[in-house]
Amino acid sequence: MKALERTLQYDENRWEEATTEPVNTLQLFITNRCNLRCRACFYAGSLGKKDMSMEQYKEHVLEHKEEISKVILLGGEPTLHPDLEQMLFFSKSQGLRTTVYTNGARITRLEGFDLKDVEVRVGIYGSVSSEKPLGKIARVSFPFTVVYMLRKDNVNELMEAAEMADSLGSPRFFISSIRDIAKTGSYWIDNEETVPLEQYADIVQDFVDNYKGGMELHIAKRGVLKSQADSNADKCRFGNIFPDDSKIICPFDISLEKYSSRLCFDKRRCNKNKSCLLTKIVLKPKMADARRLYDAAGSILRRRDEENRKLMRDVSEMLKKEVKL
Ligand code: SF4
Ligand code: SF4
Repeated sequence: MKALERTLQYDENRWEEATTEPVNTLQLFITNRCNLRCRACFYAGSLGKKDMSMEQYKEHVLEHKEEISKVILLGGEPTLHPDLEQMLFFSKSQGLRTTVYTNGARITRLEGFDLKDVEVRVGIYGSVSSEKPLGKIARVSFPFTVVYMLRKDNVNELMEAAEMADSLGSPRFFISSIRDIAKTGSYWIDNEETVPLEQYADIVQDFVDNYKGGMELHIAKRGVLKSQADSNADKCRFGNIFPDDSKIICPFDISLEKYSSRLCFDKRRCNKNKSCLLTKIVLKPKMADARRLYDAAGSILRRRDEENRKLMRDVSEMLKKEVKL
């Protein structure tokens, strides 16, 4: 795989790369229920009808809170869980960074929640087509990060989805790709659903070269992309707990159902660390504030222009009536 690796290139006048140290992260699968049935779902073999209870959730957070900095709530579809709001509140109250992943189909469930210090991530498979396109997600009053999962069938919609995310005011755009480990048995093997890893690197490079918007770009390395600010971390910082309290350390093992008796954040060395789901490249647009101001000013001018045109139309209608009289 080494031969595939390449360093992501970017225009230094346009982007600056943030150094991202991975942090110990506990992923809590708070439900295995899901309202969708996506092709190549990483969790397909475990989807069912089970929720993690609030008591289980608290117990897991309290057991690990000294070892971790961050919790991610996912599923299944977390917005189906009746106690989601209390769960978000509880992990925040323990001083933990809190992120919730949703497929977006029920995003309005989060309206009215206290989302201060909560990152909402919406995973999509396209701009207008597929099981979860960005175009079908309801307008909401809070910002969310769009996570674009590249699949063979949605490469062409990547830029359009980014432009839509920009216009929705998303602060970040995350690009990753599916790997169908449940069917192939290995992260490195492709099938008809997956974008081959070397193509993934080309697609991402092309996107970075051509994207003109103002969002931060978060790009999963997926074992092929290297950053210009790579960390030397070589220990695993991940842990996953499921609704039945079972545990799996590595997300790559979820579809293979390789369970562990305990989690061990930042202790187990991993030679796959560079391809780990945790590692990403973060590009921050330089002059982001100026760009947003420029966009806002443009939209005000366009609105004024429209108002002026309407005024002219009204005046002209009045004049026509006067002439007739
Ligand atoms: S939304 Fe997520 S958990 Fe649900 S079917 Fe799709 S990939 Fe699987
Ligand atoms: S690839 Fe390695 S570092 Fe990443 S989650 Fe799996 S075991 Fe941990």
